[in-house]
Amino acid sequence: MQAPLVSASSQVRRYGHWIDGQPVATATHIQRVGPQSDDVVAEFSNGSDSDAARAIQSARRAFDEGPWPKLSGTERANVLNRWADLVLLNLDHLVQIEIAEAGKTIRVAKGDLEGTVALMRYAAALCHQLSGEAFTDFGSALQAMVIHEPVGVVAAIVPWNFPTIIFAQKVPFALAAGCTVVVKPSELTSGTAYELARLATQAGLPNGALNVVMGYGDPVGQHLVQSQDVDMVSFTGSTATGRRVLKGQEVNFKRVSLELGGKSAAIVFDDCDIEAAVEGVLFSIFMHSGQLCCAGSRLLVQNGIAPRFLEALIERAEQLKIGLLEDPSTDFGPVVSEVQLQSLKRFVARAKAQGATILSGGDTADSRSESATYVGASRTFLPTILDNVECSMEVFDEEAFGPILSVTRFATEDEAVRLANMSKYGLAGSVWTTNMRRAFDIAGKVRTGTMEINTSLEGQPQLPFGGFRTSGIGREKGKAGLEEFTEIKTVAFRLEARPPFFGAK
Ligand code: NDP
Repeated sequence: MQAPLVSASSQVRRYGHWIDGQPVATATHIQRVGPQSDDVVAEFSNGSDSDAARAIQSARRAFDEGPWPKLSGTERANVLNRWADLVLLNLDHLVQIEIAEAGKTIRVAKGDLEGTVALMRYAAALCHQLSGEAFTDFGSALQAMVIHEPVGVVAAIVPWNFPTIIFAQKVPFALAAGCTVVVKPSELTSGTAYELARLATQAGLPNGALNVVMGYGDPVGQHLVQSQDVDMVSFTGSTATGRRVLKGQEVNFKRVSLELGGKSAAIVFDDCDIEAAVEGVLFSIFMHSGQLCCAGSRLLVQNGIAPRFLEALIERAEQLKIGLLEDPSTDFGPVVSEVQLQSLKRFVARAKAQGATILSGGDTADSRSESATYVGASRTFLPTILDNVECSMEVFDEEAFGPILSVTRFATEDEAVRLANMSKYGLAGSVWTTNMRRAFDIAGKVRTGTMEINTSLEGQPQLPFGGFRTSGIGREKGKAGLEEFTEIKTVAFRLEARPPFFGAK
């Protein structure tokens, strides 16, 4: 099916919702001013309560009456694999949307789309793995089995930083489990969600099994969270909104998975391979301008190596190439919006007022002569390194959600672990050392959902992802990411009549 949506006059893409296997136009739209300039790059439907209700009803019908939950694993896998093929065929178009709406460099955008395809194919493979348990040791008269059933209608609420990857960490896994889905993308980056849903229909996904409803968190997101017809909310975003999602369940107790914020520590020891550690730390905080929940935004560095390490890190940070997003040699781009930019400026000003020292960055790229002429320079926050950060400062444990690295020094292993665990979050982290005993010891002691040794941001589909403490509830990806979208049911069956429990009639 060919759906719109390039408005002929302006070449600004205009999107409707995607409901019940077709585009749904709306009267009003939200204009997306792109990250790089004041140009409008897309217009998204400004969804209402009734649009959200319509999308939920479509998913409800598709779950209760439709074929999708009843198909065999093989049939579901075939659709997901065809979907992945179509995403690959349309990769360049999707990459352009990511560049325009999310402000990604072409390398990051391509990596995201390739990662999306990999997640879809992995979820397709998992379609064959929804197995249960059989219990046959209750005596000859009784047996039981424990099975996984799809949880039902899933509301997938997606943020702006990784519109396709986060979509793909949720939706193909929910579909693989036999659920039907309503996606609410961020009102800043809704284009790829629409395109992915359109391609899913083209791949043979039954109408209503995947719907996209655009608009603001209030009313659209809120409607999804509160609706009695939604069985599960899978949310990624800020810890504050995650709390609101949980609060919304005081009445209807639907299943909730939350993937929230983080303040992950990169722990660098004196005996590390310094070149590898510098590159790993650099990548984990400055990839996509630090706008990722699992960014390594706290550097804990051992006293002996600190001066040498910081010197090398600053040199590399200042070499990152700021330029046209479409240029494959560009390393670093603008932040997602003016709101986010102003928030980063205030964050650095407060850190400075509390005693942090700016070693590099701290301002927008137009302050640097070599990048001042780049079109998005005034919206690009430079890679920023803040030294002398104490545990009592805001920057030590608050998420900036931008390219801001805080530096704290330590003397011993125990101190490193204590500092890493001094956080309300528990999403990710890395340790850099050539001493493997120490590396595994620390990986076990740091209270986070992911710990990486001598590497950072490994996002393979097989590896579950999620957080401890206020970083969230539940896991995405991996086998756990499939089971997340299932309910466990016990089915017990008697092969012979049970002896009466009560006395004779
Ligand atoms: P939010 O948590 O506000 O938004 C995430 C998603 O939830 C968006 O689709 C949003 O819609 C939706 N939403 C907002 N309010 C509600 C609600 N009451 N009920 C249901 N859904 C709702 O994050 P922001 O995008 O505003 O970013 C703010 C901060 O969140 C960032 O600065 C960053 O610190 C953090 N963040 C964390 C992410 C992560 O991966 N953990 C990802 C993105 C942001 P809409 O925005 O369209 O109104």
